[in-house]
Amino acid sequence: MKFKFIPLMRTCRQAAALLVAREDRALSLPDTVALRLHLLACRACPKFENQMLTMRLAMKRWRHYSEDADKAPASPPK
Ligand SMILES: [Zn+2]
Repeated sequence: MKFKFIPLMRTCRQAAALLVAREDRALSLPDTVALRLHLLACRACPKFENQMLTMRLAMKRWRHYSEDADKAPASPPK
């Protein structure tokens, strides 16, 4: 059986690119594993991941806030 070597080391630049790409699409299994390993070993990239998650949550809340504002009646509250 031939073993296919898949390099799992990622630089911080590559890990950041994967974190950004993860917002738009599902990552491949090797990329997911490599990203998880990098996040366990790196001190800076988990902070960037938290920033990405914060941005995602803020955008989600803003989107719902905007939709709620459109549905609200035009008259001012009492
Ligand atoms: Zn890193």
